[in-house]
Amino acid sequence: MLKGKVAVVTGSTSGIGLGIATAFAQQGADVVLNGFGDAGEIEALRARLAEEHGVKVLYDGADLSKGEAVRQMVANTVQTFGRIDILVNNAGIQHTALIEDFPIDKWDAVIALNLSAVFHGSAAALPHMKKQGWGRIINIASAHGLVGSAQKSAYVAAKHGVVGLTKVTALETAGQGITANAICPGWVRTPLVEKQITALAERGHTDQEAAARELLGEKQPSLQFVTPEQLGGTAVYLASEAAAQVTGTTISVDGGWTAR
Ligand code: NAD
Repeated sequence: MLKGKVAVVTGSTSGIGLGIATAFAQQGADVVLNGFGDAGEIEALRARLAEEHGVKVLYDGADLSKGEAVRQMVANTVQTFGRIDILVNNAGIQHTALIEDFPIDKWDAVIALNLSAVFHGSAAALPHMKKQGWGRIINIASAHGLVGSAQKSAYVAAKHGVVGLTKVTALETAGQGITANAICPGWVRTPLVEKQITALAERGHTDQEAAARELLGEKQPSLQFVTPEQLGGTAVYLASEAAAQVTGTTISVDGGWTAR
């Protein structure tokens, strides 16, 4: 379905980004992977995705907390492939603390990666998409782009910002073959959430699985984690022709979190 398309998925060496990059490769898109990790493991992942799905897969290790690096990654993609069709702004980090205790450097780091990188990536990709007359911006926001939680000020501010930025992107591209949407996942059991489960287990003197159930019970009525594969399916839908008039909106994949 996506043969001939070129997709950049930020933060795709792990978790949700990897699920989305895999789903795009399955649909025949060439993919640019990005994110941190062990160089050997990343190269093995790159080679496996390319071989299994018969597509080109490149790795760009840009640190997206720096605006120039985000723009350069998009430029590198266009230089290599001659185009960029799909940009998934997914890379993100979390830090939890009360507002009055929130370290300033952590606030800046969360805003830089979770919000400003979305701006820089979109700014660099949109001129190419406009020239092509086709493009998809898919921003991975969160249930926290729609509702708040205590101790997550920077994350909730950034994700609400991403939802707003998505709407502006959609308005500035409407009718030009380009759509911009945000996916708002609930809990997905990735390294980002595993750290929060561990903290909960330590606080409650309980084991990891009991803490995982408690985490779900607090927010997610389905009491089941969302999977990276399910989010890959959502992203493939947004990239499809069926979604050509879906723009400027959010799709919640959250087991009912934001329904109550
Ligand atoms: P993860 O920690 O598994 O993956 C994060 C990815 O981002 C990794 O590939 C990491 O290497 C990369 N990354 C981190 N810092 C980077 C930087 N400076 N430059 C480039 N890449 C960097 O996390 P995840 O849970 O898969 O989260 C992915 C996105 O989904 C984030 O934006 C997160 O906020 C969002 N999200 C996650 C959940 C969840 O429950 N896991 C829920 C809602 C939204």
